[in-house]
Amino acid sequence: MKSCFPGVLGNKKTRERIGSAILAGTLPHALLVIGPDGSGKSTLAREIAAALNCERRESDGVPLPCGECNCCKRIYASNFPDVKTLSRPKDRATIGVEAIKDFREDMLLSSTESEYKIYVIDDAECMTTEAQNALLKVLEEPPSRVIIIMLSREGDKILTTIKSRAQQIYTERFAKEELREHLMKLSPDARLLSVTDPKRLDDVIMSADGRLGRAITLTDSRLAEENEAQRKEVCEIIRCITDKHGYAEIQTALSHLSSKRGELMEGLEMLIGALRDIIAAKSYDACTTVFYSSAAEALAVCPTVSVKRLMAVYDELMAAHERISKNAGISNVIATLGARLKFI
Ligand SMILES: [Zn+2]
Repeated sequence: MKSCFPGVLGNKKTRERIGSAILAGTLPHALLVIGPDGSGKSTLAREIAAALNCERRESDGVPLPCGECNCCKRIYASNFPDVKTLSRPKDRATIGVEAIKDFREDMLLSSTESEYKIYVIDDAECMTTEAQNALLKVLEEPPSRVIIIMLSREGDKILTTIKSRAQQIYTERFAKEELREHLMKLSPDARLLSVTDPKRLDDVIMSADGRLGRAITLTDSRLAEENEAQRKEVCEIIRCITDKHGYAEIQTALSHLSSKRGELMEGLEMLIGALRDIIAAKSYDACTTVFYSSAAEALAVCPTVSVKRLMAVYDELMAAHERISKNAGISNVIATLGARLKFI
């Protein structure tokens, strides 16, 4: 049996299953890869694209993809005309129908240089219903030699009709020690940290929550500073909300999150994660945390605030996140959120 996807860590069963299907020529024409940010979805898509077009696919004794042939090299360098990626524009919350129609047209019309044309849709959960329906047409009658790979953080937001026509693949999270092992192998920054600041390395592994890509990003010193600043803002907002500050103070704290939609959504997600930690720490004896480094740290944040009140805050944050993700006006959502939090 060939070694499949040496560039993907963990996910052994998935690698074997997809690898065998590619070698047998039975890979479904649509795949839906589901997993959190930084869990390797894009890496897997790139490896599948390379494996499908690898010139040494049939050769014995070389892994799939080989990583060294002309096709593999160009795919790794994002310089391959038959691998196309569509992502959500940075300043928008959704992928609209026009973008999908353009993609569809390309699938149907453009000629191929290689064996397979691969179309990757990143942030697939951001496709509007109209966009998903436009995509559905091509999934129902797939052009030959076209493979569509959708990447999504949340499978729930994808229409059932799409899901039923795509093979679903879930990326795995790593256990903490496994994550540490891979991180040390892959990241010079992490190796340095293990010597200069082992406590911070522990924090990185904790907040990466099983996602290797996220851990690598967090060990990058510049990005780590940004993350640290964002964490401080999240802590400040939680303090404002739970100490029952006035509207103006809550509003000021919230305004630090960001005025850009994508960053604001990330900030809200971090805030929601922190609150979930506090609620879990107050509700259960043993709980795993995603924002705080331990349940004890989460418990110490607001010892006198009731779970009921925290749950109400949590619900408001989720509602705000939902509205932002549906393209509602940012300043309007934040103003409403601030006003509602004041009365909880
Ligand atoms: Zn190759």
